[in-house]
Amino acid sequence: SYQKVLEENRKLYNQVQDLKGNIRVYCRVRPFLPGQQNGLSTVDHIDDENITITTPSKYGKEGKKLFTFNKVFGPSATQAKVFADTQPLIRSVLDGFNVCIFAYGQTGSGKTHTMTGPSDLTKETLGVNYRALSDLFLISEQRRDVISYDISVQMVEIYNEQVRDLLTPDGVNKKVEIRNSSQKGFNVPDANLVPVTSTSDVMNLMNLGHKNRAVSATAMNDRSSRSHSCLTVHVQGRNMTSGAILRGSMHLVDLAGSERVDKSEAVGDRLKEATHINKSLSALGDVISSLAQKNSHVPYRNSKLTQLLQDSLGGQAKTLMFVHISPELNAVGETLSTLKFAERVSTVELGTARVNKESSDVKELKEQIAGLKAALARKE
Ligand code: ADP
Ligand code: MG
Repeated sequence: SYQKVLEENRKLYNQVQDLKGNIRVYCRVRPFLPGQQNGLSTVDHIDDENITITTPSKYGKEGKKLFTFNKVFGPSATQAKVFADTQPLIRSVLDGFNVCIFAYGQTGSGKTHTMTGPSDLTKETLGVNYRALSDLFLISEQRRDVISYDISVQMVEIYNEQVRDLLTPDGVNKKVEIRNSSQKGFNVPDANLVPVTSTSDVMNLMNLGHKNRAVSATAMNDRSSRSHSCLTVHVQGRNMTSGAILRGSMHLVDLAGSERVDKSEAVGDRLKEATHINKSLSALGDVISSLAQKNSHVPYRNSKLTQLLQDSLGGQAKTLMFVHISPELNAVGETLSTLKFAERVSTVELGTARVNKESSDVKELKEQIAGLKAALARKE
């Protein structure tokens, strides 16, 4: 049956994923917004790992496609649920791992909602960033007698291939450079590094960061969707008995909107921004996909974003990509291109089953399973 085939598909997918190492891809589907017509959705959320996208004929080639992820969060998934499935990764920072968490998707698909939360923030709607830090405080407190932790944060944005400090008290987003030192690896030594000891420290800093981002936004409308913002958490732990030091860092990245800009219409600044965004998102895709394929050459140097994150992508580092999609029919083109990106950064061999007719579902899935088996055989 369809269910059984899906089941087998998932098992194989997970095996392939494990062989791939440390790259996880989670998909989050935004609900329809209040006031939006609660119309037809292009997304059918099948289960915790599978979705199908239906393309109505009006929006291109009619058809249905299946996509598989490490996890799928449907429109009703809460912030708490999303965080619960991210927590183990976050905690590994305290054991000295480097972690990168990305939010990818077109503007309006829910990236900032996942990472920060909505603008009318409540305890329930707090995003991953805040929950991550408060969890790190909690665990470091529990380990207090064994390891003493220092936690500090930086917050920068990358706009038009320039890195700017967002934690400047005077609101001037100072341009900073990425440096590489043998001791500290890739970092931005000139961006403010602020020690934090409580969740209220974190709240204050995030507010400052957002305010500084908003300052630039008046000069350039809605800049936040056209720049990457990166909250970096540096953790240093000292073993109370041996004195041994361990270091871990975590980058929480709210990426620029991935929507394609019509080159024939964009001019001037808008075209320049679009070009930079395209370049850096595809550089990120190239880096992650070459890591997923365990290529010997990883092209970190092609963008500021991948340079900044170089030490936290690959090697022992752990990467999680949240891909966000919108449910609306008129977003289906962007949704498919987002999912294509997701596919590229997860498993190249996986492919997607193209399901055009209900009756061919099982046949197509079986073909996909055969493909996965072949991929698995190649890996072993
Ligand atoms: P992006 O950062 O990708 O441009 P936003 O996070 O700003 O998108 O989301 C656009 C709007 O949709 C916001 O009003 C946000 O609060 C809302 N939204 C996004 N995801 C969800 C969700 N999972 N549940 C409820 N509202 C959401
Ligand atoms: Mg946003």
